[in-house]
Amino acid sequence: MKSKTEAIILSTMNLGEADKLVTFFSLDRGKLTGVTKNARKSFKRFGAGLEAFTNCRLHLYEREHQELIRIESSDIVTQLFTLTNDLDRVATGSVILELVKELAPECERNAQAFLLLAHILQLLDDGEAPLFLLKIFEIRFLSLLGYQPKLDRCLSCGGQPKGDMIFLGMKGGVLCPSCLVSSGDPQARLSQGAVGFYYQALRMELDKVCRLKPSAVIMRELDLAFSSHTFHILGKRLRSVEFLRTISAL
Ligand SMILES: [Zn+2]
Repeated sequence: MKSKTEAIILSTMNLGEADKLVTFFSLDRGKLTGVTKNARKSFKRFGAGLEAFTNCRLHLYEREHQELIRIESSDIVTQLFTLTNDLDRVATGSVILELVKELAPECERNAQAFLLLAHILQLLDDGEAPLFLLKIFEIRFLSLLGYQPKLDRCLSCGGQPKGDMIFLGMKGGVLCPSCLVSSGDPQARLSQGAVGFYYQALRMELDKVCRLKPSAVIMRELDLAFSSHTFHILGKRLRSVEFLRTISAL
């Protein structure tokens, strides 16, 4: 059976002499992995259309009882040229792609998540602040996948935040200081400013979201809270985050 779909390439891996294993996030069917036969020898069919970050139209072929989809060819829709020439942007983009690869369920359509990914990568390529975009992506993508943390009320007493709250990655929510019994788990403090920014970033139209200007303190608070949150969802740290931290520290 032949089909085609718009997709963003998440990663590729060489397979044998000439083939490639390609993981992509598609508009119609969510995350999938396919194989390209002779991709490394056939520049005509694929060109640069299988490189990470590329938004392309993939032509697929599937047979019953065959485990892997075959990718027949790829037409580029958008190639992010600036992004691939700028280390900061590539490092940030790599965290975004790894988040999708690790978190998105196989073969489950999520058009909103696809459009979010395409839009954020485009903004990254257009020159918007990389770490800000990463935060916006994390906040909205986790929510679209059903992993939205609960920050508006204390998990224990239900009280609304009046001052700083404590984020518990393990529970995916916040506790007020009077409900917190120190358990030795790593905790991240979230100020009211950070919680306010979180809900704006979640609900605002994506076109307008770049007008938000969170302070460095707010960004740091959310960074700690979200790395703890994704760590508890995935049970591991993302590899590309280490690279991004190294680049950012330079
Ligand atoms: Zn409480």
